[in-house]
Amino acid sequence: MAKKVLKFGGTSVGTVERIQHVASIVKKELLDGNNLVVIVSAMAGQTNELIKLSNEISDKFNKRELDVLLSSGEQVTSALLAGALIELNIKAKSLLSWQIPILTEGQHSNARIINMSVEKINKYLSEEGVVIIPGFQGISKSAEVTTIGRGGSDATAVAVAKILNADTCEIYTDVDGVYSTDPNKIPVAKKIDKISYDEMLELSSLGAKVMQSSAVQTAMMYDVPLEVKSTFTERKGTKIFNQENIDYSKSVTGVAYSKDDAKITLIGVEDRPGVAANIFEPLSKAQINVDMVIQNISSDQKTTDVTFTVKRDDVAKTKGILKEKSEITYKDIIQNDKVAKISIVGAGMVSTPGITYKMFRALSDERINILAISTSEIKISVIIDEDKTLDAVKKLHTIFDLD
Ligand code: ASP
Ligand code: MG
Repeated sequence: MAKKVLKFGGTSVGTVERIQHVASIVKKELLDGNNLVVIVSAMAGQTNELIKLSNEISDKFNKRELDVLLSSGEQVTSALLAGALIELNIKAKSLLSWQIPILTEGQHSNARIINMSVEKINKYLSEEGVVIIPGFQGISKSAEVTTIGRGGSDATAVAVAKILNADTCEIYTDVDGVYSTDPNKIPVAKKIDKISYDEMLELSSLGAKVMQSSAVQTAMMYDVPLEVKSTFTERKGTKIFNQENIDYSKSVTGVAYSKDDAKITLIGVEDRPGVAANIFEPLSKAQINVDMVIQNISSDQKTTDVTFTVKRDDVAKTKGILKEKSEITYKDIIQNDKVAKISIVGAGMVSTPGITYKMFRALSDERINILAISTSEIKISVIIDEDKTLDAVKKLHTIFDLD
């Protein structure tokens, strides 16, 4: 008998019919002989609706009360699912965060789960009951209701799976797994059967948004095996676990892209020690995340050009800082918002030489100009013109045998 944590996202519990459908999935898992703890999100769109209501009262709505308000979404779906299971003659009950309790630390709307008691959960499981827990929330040491950040039901599921030492944590959602690239744009995209935590993190931070990244991080830290699967089909999902469990026949696992970067070039920057530090220190202090940096060699030994990328939303702030700091001198500043970041990700890259060259050659064959490059052990990213995004992704997907 396996102990499983099942988590159902907002679209999976978006209507009463869907909640009944979820109940039928839970019933099947139960009949298969599993011990089940189910984590639910709020009905799709509900959390945003509640935020909107609070904004109608004030855009500085009281933080404590906002958490009380937002946590209600998941309370609704927990009770509806427990009720639907009871209608199917299944022993089930909801346990709210304060009843368990699930302890959190940190500020309202951004708390972290630090501990939880397993007593009530285990007792009910031993009586063959299904426990339903609302995701996304907890309770502080001083008994205040807290929420743990948007998309936080994933984090709840991983935390519960870890503390119960569950055999697996299944994330049910509206896609049937993690794909080698965006299946909506590139029809030849293939579902990935197995992927490592690291690769998943690279892919999700790059735009393949399937699961909350911090929840994947926690799962990696505690080695909680995950599976992403669809609520609406019976197809196999994607298993996410430790790299050791994966046989890499391919060097590249996926091709991701994002369009939220911008490139900034400082022309004619003085070429002497300390200049780069002068540029990037104030940016980091202002919480601006600089992704890629290129510094050209100076042809006249006096000045050079420095190019770097930041999030598009940060461009104005970045330029503001560069203009106001008198120790940063340059002749001109150019920005380009019409860029995209294309990344190939694969733990198999480590053991395959020549991947970088193969990527650059493929892009040049498509007459795509590379504007910036960054690499890590399992990822190579390039910045290119935005209107070449799909051409680049398609080409890379093909040459790395992913079609
Ligand atoms: N309902 C919360 C949100 O929309 C948490 C979640 O769905 O994971 O962010
Ligand atoms: Mg979610």
